[in-house]
Formats: sequence, structure tokens, C-alpha cells
Amino acid sequence: MTGGCRLVVNRELPKLKSGVRFPSPAPFKKGIKMYYKSTRGNEKKISSAQAIIRGLADDKGLYVPEEIPSLPFEIKDMINKSYKEIALPILGAFFDDFTYEELKHCVDGAYTDKFDDDEIVPIKKTEKCYFLELFHGRTAAFKDMALSILPYLLTTAIKKENEKKKVCILVATSGDTGKAALEGFADVPGTEIIVFYPNKGVSKIQEQQMVTQEGDNTHVFAINGNFDDAQNGVKEIFNDEEFSRQVEEKGIRISSANSINIGRLIPQVVYYVYSYIKLVESGEIKDKDSINVVVPTGNFGNILAAYYAKQMGIPINKFICASNENKVLADFLNTGKYDIDRDFHLTSSPSMDILISSNLERLLYHLAEQDGNEVRRYMSQLYDDSGYEISEKIKLGLNDFVGGCADMNKVSEAIGNLYNEENYLIDTHTAVAYCVYSDYVKKTSDSTPTIIASTASAYKFAESVADALGIDKGKDGFESVLKVKEKTGVFVPEGLRNLDKKRVRHDGLIDIDEMKQTILKCTK
Ligand SMILES: *Cc1c(COP(=O)(O)O)cnc(C)c1O
Repeated sequence: MTGGCRLVVNRELPKLKSGVRFPSPAPFKKGIKMYYKSTRGNEKKISSAQAIIRGLADDKGLYVPEEIPSLPFEIKDMINKSYKEIALPILGAFFDDFTYEELKHCVDGAYTDKFDDDEIVPIKKTEKCYFLELFHGRTAAFKDMALSILPYLLTTAIKKENEKKKVCILVATSGDTGKAALEGFADVPGTEIIVFYPNKGVSKIQEQQMVTQEGDNTHVFAINGNFDDAQNGVKEIFNDEEFSRQVEEKGIRISSANSINIGRLIPQVVYYVYSYIKLVESGEIKDKDSINVVVPTGNFGNILAAYYAKQMGIPINKFICASNENKVLADFLNTGKYDIDRDFHLTSSPSMDILISSNLERLLYHLAEQDGNEVRRYMSQLYDDSGYEISEKIKLGLNDFVGGCADMNKVSEAIGNLYNEENYLIDTHTAVAYCVYSDYVKKTSDSTPTIIASTASAYKFAESVADALGIDKGKDGFESVLKVKEKTGVFVPEGLRNLDKKRVRHDGLIDIDEMKQTILKCTK
């Protein structure tokens, strides 16, 4: 990153010396206490390893921890700890059927120099807020935070549970999950990964990242439809018992790398705790001070992880949920009505072009005080009537959430302004959050220190960013990368360099109703 931001919070702090010991394995000694249940209430409790292997519950619900654990440490005892050192006890608190050694293996394998920043998630300070840069992994978007560890969690879980079947990971992607999952699972023994992305619904760079993926167990298909179609297709496959039997006979178990998998969600809690510790460590806030968190939201996974961090004990005041033109969530938070009966927009922040935000189901379940029947009712109304209205109790529970939206013009203007005024470059998704936050402050004058989740490198959406900077964007996304680099000098992530020269290895285009056939073919 170029300078401009007055403070790079955690760079100025002393580095950990090698040989520093991990925190005491105390949370690992208790034996299993944490069980996972389905949001639709019809399932037996299972261990986290089983929940990670299954992905989605048989009653179509999502797995949630029966209870959200408290922070397994005091903030003051975590000062100067590394990302890995903070991650380990947090994961241990949620996944307590894993041993200390097992989780250490997962954390050590995931957060390595595959990340192009030693801090894993550097925090940048600007005039109005802090940006938590979650995009320093292999694929230059925040999905790497969870998808670099999920394959380790899953393969460890398979070993623990003596699962003999091959696990076939199905992924529906709005662009970023697909590549991050492919990177994570490529050539992982005992797994096969199949990714479906909406044809024309992802950026040129996102598409090229996926279709050039190497690895003998990787499969990538464009589908005729949008992200919701892809996600529904995958969910239907999970719910099709006949189909499950068919693949099980072939020795295959289907699982998911989408954020419906609890193994995706929990690792995301870590960076909210981490960032709070780093703000305390650098003297930006005092321990126990409240912060706000702003999240550019699509499937509601990232912001739900912030909610979990608060339940653990991080003092978060407001969760500001930012949407683009597909503002189902903003409307929902403002009215209590979830309504998908509306036009779908393709925007400059394609990873948020979503109408059905799966992880909201988890929040509803927690706020309904774990009433699976109530959640099941909402979900069937969503399916049958394109929407539902929540109870007064849940509305009250949503008091800490603020919804807002920003359109493409505002996003573009914000990218240009922030760059010109503070020499700091953000991508289109992060800019949605920045706009919504600016509106929020104008309206409320809330001066609580605020962290914006910065979810992608600006280069991943280089054409829109070039437009926003008022420069020539060249003939395609690849040229835009070069133009933006020329103008700003900002570091281009490794994975995005020379992307156009890579060989295309996947060029399938299928209809939604061909997904099952495709899976059978890929798992021959
Ligand atoms: C996936 C994604 C989002 C949305 O995150 P959710 O957890 O699905 O709400 C936002 N920005 C980028 C760049 C993404 O890849």
C-alpha cells in the first residue's frame, strides 16, 4: 500500500519474536461442551467436526453453536500477539472437539506467507475511520480469511470422524468465494471441488481467476442464471435425498464451502477480535471502549461474524450493514420485512448482488431465542410468498443493526474522493460500506471509533476503480489493472498479475437443471 494514511496501526508495533509460545491451551482441556444445532430445530446436536463435514443440516437449516462462548482471554493479555496466536484460542472455544494440536495444525497451515502481509490483516487509519484490510490472501478478497483454513478444518474433521467417503465440495459463488475455495481445496487429498458462478454476473478478473484454476480435483462452470439461482441450485442438491443416495453409493459425501458451512463463519470472528485488540494495543482506544463495525454485505456471513464477536464480549455498539442497489437487507433492517419480490441489479460490487442472504437465518434463530419453528416458518414464507415479516421480539433484537445502501454513482464518487483527499485506494464493495457509513455519521453524529471491513483489493474491480479515478480504463479489466497501478502505485496482489496470460482450463457453461448431471460427471 502507498502511504497517505497517517497511521498503519499495527506496523509500528514491535514484532513477535520467533519462539514465542502460544497462549496456554486452557480452553482445550474442558472436553466437548460446544454442540451444534440446526436453525430449523429438527436435528440432533452434533459436534463441530460433524457440522463442518455436513455443511447443511438435513432439515435444510444451518448449523449454529448451541451457545456462543465468551472470549477465552482478557484483551490486555493478548497485546502484541500475532493473528495466529489470537485465532487459536478463539477457534478452540467454538470447536472444542478439536484438540489443541489439531487446531494449531489448521491455523499454522492457513495463515502463512500465502498472505502478502505479515500482519495477515493490517489496519489502516484514515480521517473518518479504520479500514480492516481483509484482502491480503491469495485471491485478493476477504473470502481467503476463512477459505484458507476451511480445507484444514475439513480434512482434520474427516480424520477425526473416520469419514471414509470422498468429500465433494459444492460452491455457488458471486465471484470471490469460488476462487478462494478453489485455491484452498486444489489438490487437497480426499476432496473434489465444483464451483458454479453466474455467467456474466462476475467481473472479468474474477472469472479469469476461476477458469484458470489449476489442480486435478477442481471443476468450474458458468451457469445460465444469477447468484441466487446458483445458490438455490446448490441448496436443492443438498436437500435432494434421492440424489444424495446416488452419490453416496459412489462413495461420495457432498459438502459446502459456502458461508452456510459453520467452518467458514467461525474463522471470520477472529479478525473482529483481532482488530479490537490491535486498536487497544496501539492506544487508538482503551480496553472496554465501544466500536462500530461497518460491513459491505451480501450473504450476511461477514457481519454475522461481527455479531458473534460481540456475543463473545467485544464491545460493538452498532453493526452497520451496507448494501448496494440490491438493498433487501437495508429495507429489512429498516422495516422488519424481508422482501425479495423486486428487480435484481447487476452492479459494480458484484459480490453483493444477492437477494437471499443465507446467513440471516442464523441471526434470526439467535434472536428468536433458538425457536426453530419460527425460523422454519419465515423460511417457508420466503420460499412460498417471496418474503416474511419478523416478530416484535426479533425487531427489538435488531436494534444494534443499522441498514443503509449506496448506488454505483455514489460508490464511484467515494473511491475518487478518498483517493484524492487521503491517497487511500478502496474497492467498490468497501466503498459501498464507506458511503453508508458517511451517511450514518451525517444522520446521527455518532463519533464512536469505527472499523470498516475492507473486503477486496481495488484491483479486483479495476475497471470500476479506473472509472472512479477518472482515468482511461483500457480495453478490459486486465488493462485496467495496469492503468490503476500506473496512476496510484499501489501494490498489485500476486494472484492478479499476468492473469490474462494464464491458460483457461475450465470453459463449461450449463443450465441450472444440468447441475446434478454435472456433479455426477465430475465425480466419476
Ligand atoms: C463476499 C463478499 C462480500 C459479502 O460478504 P458476505 O459475507 O457474503 O456478506 C463483500 N465484499 C466482497 C469483496 C466479497 O467478496
